Amino acid sequence: MASCPQCGAPTQGGLPGLPLVTCTSCNALLLVKAEGLTRVGDSGVMPFDVSPLQIGTSLAVDGQRGEIVGRERWAWERGSWNEWLLDFGGGTHAWVAEEAGYYMVMSETSPRADTMRRLADLGRIGQVALGDTVQVNKRKYTVSDIKEIHCVASEGHLPKPVPAHFKRRSLDLRDRSGGAVTWQSDANTTGLWEGRYYRLAELDPSNLRQLAGWTQPRGGHAA
Ligand SMILES: [Zn+2]
Repeated sequence: MASCPQCGAPTQGGLPGLPLVTCTSCNALLLVKAEGLTRVGDSGVMPFDVSPLQIGTSLAVDGQRGEIVGRERWAWERGSWNEWLLDFGGGTHAWVAEEAGYYMVMSETSPRADTMRRLADLGRIGQVALGDTVQVNKRKYTVSDIKEIHCVASEGHLPKPVPAHFKRRSLDLRDRSGGAVTWQSDANTTGLWEGRYYRLAELDPSNLRQLAGWTQPRGGHAA
C-alpha cells in the first residue's frame, strides 16, 4: 500500500482509467503513477449531506453493474449537488448526478466536430442560448440551463484532477423522454456527456447508505 506524500497516511492505489485518489487523512488530491504518488492539489472538505448513495454502493445501468468509487461535489450560485463516479471496471465509468429524487446517469460521448463547435458557441453566449435546440448523436435536445460552477470537494477514485474551487462552464440540455446531455468546459478540457434520468429503484441499488437518526419505533407508539 502507498502512503500520502503530504501526511504519510496509507492511501489506495489507482484504478484503470482513474489515476487520481484523495487522501482521507489530509484531503490531498493525489496522482498515482508507477513511480509513486504526487500531490496535485487539495480535494477540499466534503460537506455533510443526506444522499442514499455512498462509496461502495452498487448500481445497475441497463443491465451493466458497477460500483461507486468516487464523488465530486459541485456548486453554483444557488445550490450544490453530488456527482458520483460509477466504475464498471476495465476503465469504463459513468457519472451519476443526484437531482430532486432522480439520478442522471451520464457517459462521455464524442459527437461530430460541428456539434462540439455549436455547443461551444452556445456555452459562450450564455443565457440567450436557453431554449435553443442541438442535435447530438441523432437526438434533438433543448438547452435548459447554463451556469458557472465550481468544485466544492472530491473524494475516492477520480478520472481527472479537479481540486477544490476548480471552475467550469456548464451547459445542460434535455429532451422530452428523459434524455440529457451536459457540455462542460474548463481551463484544461472540454467534454460532452450523454445519458438519461432514472429513478433509484430502476438502478437496482445495493449497499445504500444507512441514514442515522431514524429507527423503527417499538411497540407501535411513535415518540
Ligand atoms: Zn494525506
